[in-house]
Amino acid sequence: MCILFALLALVPFEWNGEKVSRSEESWLELLGSDRYAVMRERRTERAFSGKYRPLEGVIYSCAACGLALFDSKDQYNAGNGYPSFKRAIVKKNIYFAEDRSLSFKRYEVLCRCCDSHLGHVFKDGPPPKGLRFSINSITLNIR
Ligand SMILES: [Zn+2]
Repeated sequence: MCILFALLALVPFEWNGEKVSRSEESWLELLGSDRYAVMRERRTERAFSGKYRPLEGVIYSCAACGLALFDSKDQYNAGNGYPSFKRAIVKKNIYFAEDRSLSFKRYEVLCRCCDSHLGHVFKDGPPPKGLRFSINSITLNIR
């Protein structure tokens, strides 16, 4: 167990400034059609279809590039069928983009390293910042 924690401590969690880019064909091959639809075509998975109920002691990383994104200590159950987080593990590992695909304005959450779509952020979350990162579980791997 101690060795595992020592190894985890050595893995950098912060984005190193390098971008991962691939052709769309290569992303499709890497991700498979379900993940590709969410991460590259900005679709949303069906609610409650994911495998990530709030867990303990895990780090979630981007399923496309491996960058650490969320810590389970910031995860909570928002009751809507999507993994919800109070914040990103490291602020600069994600970024936001305006999404006007519905009748109201939303902000999508993207991976800073590979520009994959992860989900959306809303302002109805718990303290301290009141943010709810509503993330498609298919975009996450447990690190
Ligand atoms: Zn990524």
